[in-house]
Formats: sequence, C-alpha cells, structure tokens
Amino acid sequence: MAVLEGAHFVAGRREVAGGERFHAIDPRTGAELAPGFAEASEEQIERACAAAAQADAAFAASAPTERAELLRAIADGIEGLGETLVDRVAAETALPPQRVLAERGRTCTQLRQFADVAEQDAWIEASIDRGDPERQPLPKPDLRRMNVPLGPVVVFGASNFPLAYSVAGGDTASALAVGCPVIVKAHPAHPGTSELVGDVIRVAVERLDLSAGVFSLLHGRSHATGAALVRHPVVKAVGFTGSHLGGRALCDLAATRPEPIPVFAEMGSANPVVVLPNALRGRGVAIAEQLAASSLLAQGQFCTSPGLVLWVDGHGGEAFRRTLRERMLGAEAGPTVHPTIRAGYERTLQEVESLPIEVARGTAKASAATDVCPALLSATPADLFANPRLRHELYGPAMLTVACPSAADLLSIVEALDGHLTGTVHGDGDDFTSHAPLIAALRRKVGRLIANGVPTGVEVCPSMVHGGPYPAASDPRFSAVGSTSVRRWVRPVCWQDCPPDLLPPQLRTEPGTNNNLTG
Ligand code: NAP
Repeated sequence: MAVLEGAHFVAGRREVAGGERFHAIDPRTGAELAPGFAEASEEQIERACAAAAQADAAFAASAPTERAELLRAIADGIEGLGETLVDRVAAETALPPQRVLAERGRTCTQLRQFADVAEQDAWIEASIDRGDPERQPLPKPDLRRMNVPLGPVVVFGASNFPLAYSVAGGDTASALAVGCPVIVKAHPAHPGTSELVGDVIRVAVERLDLSAGVFSLLHGRSHATGAALVRHPVVKAVGFTGSHLGGRALCDLAATRPEPIPVFAEMGSANPVVVLPNALRGRGVAIAEQLAASSLLAQGQFCTSPGLVLWVDGHGGEAFRRTLRERMLGAEAGPTVHPTIRAGYERTLQEVESLPIEVARGTAKASAATDVCPALLSATPADLFANPRLRHELYGPAMLTVACPSAADLLSIVEALDGHLTGTVHGDGDDFTSHAPLIAALRRKVGRLIANGVPTGVEVCPSMVHGGPYPAASDPRFSAVGSTSVRRWVRPVCWQDCPPDLLPPQLRTEPGTNNNLTG
C-alpha cells in the first residue's frame, strides 16, 4: 500500500470513514496535506478494544519465534516503503531526509532487537523453588514463578519522533515482543506516516495468521479518542511519549478508572549540564560549541536537549558564556514539526520574558511557516529558586544558563531539581573527585548520567536507561528504550504446588522440557 486514504486499522480492517476531517500540515509551507483523517468513532474504539481482548490469550501464548517473525516482518516492511515513507515523514514534519533515514534505521534496528528479545525468552525470568515435603516444622511448597504479559496496551507517540516513538516505535515493539496486543492512538501531527506504518503492521499480522486484534490504529485530533482508549476496561497498560501535560493527564485518567492501570509516560526534561572548573578553564569554548550544537539539533525538539547549563562563575566562564551566546543567537531559524510546537515555544518565551531574567533571542529571519529562532536565557540561582518554571523543560531551541557565585550555590540548585531524563557533567583533572557530592546529587535526579558529552543521542541497547524520576517519567523504575523496556508490559505470576500439566512449559522440570533451572 502506498496510496494514503485516511484509514484507521481496526483489527485488521482498513476503514475510511466519512464526516469531518483533519489534515496534516506541511510545516515548511503551512499547507494542508491530503488526505483528510477522521476522528475514530466510539464504535471503532469499541471494536478495536474488543478485538484486542479477544486476541489477548492466544497472542500471550504464541511462540517466541512467531512474535520475533512478526517484529522482523514489520522492520522489513518499513524499509520496503522506501522513498514513500521518507517523503511523507519529511512532508509532515519538515525533518530533513537524512534525519528521517537515521530515525528509520533506529526504528528498524529496535524492532529487530526486540525480535531477539522475544526469541530468547529471558524476559520471563523463570524461577523455580522446589518443594520439600519433609521440611520441619512445616513442609515447603513447590513454587515456580515467571513473568506473563499484562494484556492489551495503548500506545501514544510523540510528534518529534514520527517513527522511533510512534506507531512501530519502542513502545509498540516491546509490547508485541512479550505478547501484548497493541492499539495505537496515532499522533495527529503525522497521520499519513502513521497510516503507512500501521498498514505494514496490519499486513504482517495478517500474513503470519495472527489474530487480527493484535494490532489496531485509530486516528483522532481531539483528546477524546485517546481518553476513551485509556478508560476502556480491556486495556491493561499505556505507553506514552510526549509532553508533561499530556502524560500527566493520562496518568490521572488511568488512576481514576475503576481498575487503575499503569501509564508509562516518558515526558519532557531540561537535561541539566554542569561544567566543572578545570573543564571550564581548559576547554570551556569547545564545550560551549558542543552544547550549542546539541541544543540546536532539530530546533531543540529532542526530549534530551540540554536546556539548563550551570557552572561556578570565574574559571573562564566568560569565554564559555560568550561562545554559547554567539552560537545560539547566531544560529539559523528552522522549522518545528508542527505549528502547535512553534506556538508552544513562543508561549514559553513570553512566559520567561515576563520574569526578571535576561532573555536574548536570535534574530535570524524565519522563512518557513513554523520557523523558530533560538534563545539564550541567563538567570541567577535566586531566580531559579523563585521561579519553578525555570527548572523545567523549555521545549524548543532555548537554553537557560546560570553562572553560580559559589560551588555551594551550584550544589543547592542541583539538590532542588526535579527529575530529568539525563544529567551531564564536564570535568577534567580532579573535578570529579573534588565535586563528588554534587555529582551524587545529580545522579539522584536523573535516569542517565553522562560524563564529558552531550545528552542528545539515545543508544538502543540493553544498558540504556531512557526514563528518570518524575516529572521526566511517570515511573522511574523502568526505561522506555532498550531491551529492559519490556518489563513495563509484564507481571509476575507464581504457581504453587501445581502439577506439570498446570505449569507453563518454561516452568516444567520433567524430562523432555528444555529449561535448565535448578531449585
Ligand atoms: P504531546 O502534545 O503531549 O502529544 C503526545 C500525545 O499525547 C499525543 O498523541 C496526544 O494525543 C496526547 N495528549 C497530549 N495531551 C493530552 C491530554 N491532555 N489528554 C490526552 N492525551 C493527550 O507531545 P508532542 O508535542 O507530541 O511531543 C513533544 C513533547 O514530547 C516534548 O515535551 C518532548 O520533550 C517530549 N518527548 C519526550 C520523549 C521521551 O522519551 N521522554 C521523547 C520524545 C518527546 P492527542 O492525539 O489526543 O492529542
């Protein structure tokens, strides 16, 4: 399929409804892109959920090799879309083709890594404690435990990663890997991309003869469709990537259901960066260049963009600040992925301009409809304490700098931070050892601690942690990226004194089974 129709996919069926339609916008021109997409109806939501419930037991019991094959078929299918997909993503987001290709590569690598995770079956974490009827004073029961899939998962993607955090992104791939049916609420900023990728998944499910309810995709511009999905009783978990506002709204909604369910929300982050004295003195200018480049990537539309930079005044701080200023304010304007992102950025700048801090805006000329100009903000530690807004994400190409009068001020700022996805420290010589309490304080606030680098760039591998304490994520115990992200979609079950025919094959120990666990 390469011709877009504005289709939902409801349990294997391509459905093009009539009625009022919304369109993707070309951020470069502001023009509407064909085709139109309709808001999913209540009846479609109901059918998608009923089909997911119906598919649940069989998909949970499917062979690991089947799920691996599904994930590899999806990766192959996405690559098979070739230019059609790359062009549509670029048209809907203004992301340059090279970036789209890189994101497609990451998405497919991720799908294939989750195919390996499915096949290896280690996520079940099987454990066997054999019984001992002779134990005194009481016999010990035979206890066997493994993880099982939670059930149908609803996935919300973010606008800034139309492939890697969207329809076939990490949430969908990890949920399918462990046998959870998925219903995707397509992001209204890239509905055409969502339709192309959704159709690849639909075809793969059909070709492998899996139950059609394993995957559905529904469009909607209002929050009503997503909210109805989160409220639906058959849904057992939610994967969300996006703004704090959206993530928090869905967490609250899920918590007030008669049966509350977990929402794994990956939200925004200011990604604090601390430049320690030796590093500032020795390579302050180079660090400033690096940080500005990282902050300006994709017009700051990365959840890992470095948005808050801290150092102790002196030690070459002036050259550092001057370079940051030159690089940030001298940068070109560039398009955001959607007019709403530009509007949000302008609102943020107006908010901070109303505070008693210095806000310098770049003056580059905007040419595209959604172009934004970088901004550099300077505040004191007292400003940060007085205005909590300054301690949170400024989504877009904006960076807040704070030159602290003393190391004690720097430490007290870090101690006052909320949770962030990442924290970065630049240090040379004895910087790290002589600032151990500061680094320990930063580590307590983040999911990933980076030394002498930049926070943008999230490697997809088992050791990655993409998450962090609230409000970076709703649950700091899990990562949204890497093989451990499957832990969000499973729960442990214990079988006590169950005969072999009541046990899942992975927990049987009689001859002929291939588990090698010992109790
Ligand atoms: P967004 O506006 O929050 O949209 C994400 C999804 O949230 C959409 O599908 C939207 O559904 C839903 N949503 C938003 N508000 C809602 C509400 N009040 N009720 C129900 N659903 C709601 O975010 P975005 O503009 O796509 O992405 C930008 C943000 O994502 C930035 O803050 C960025 O840092 C963050 N981000 C985080 C990560 C991460 O891994 N932590 C990765 C990428 C981006 P509807 O379709 O119903 O509007």
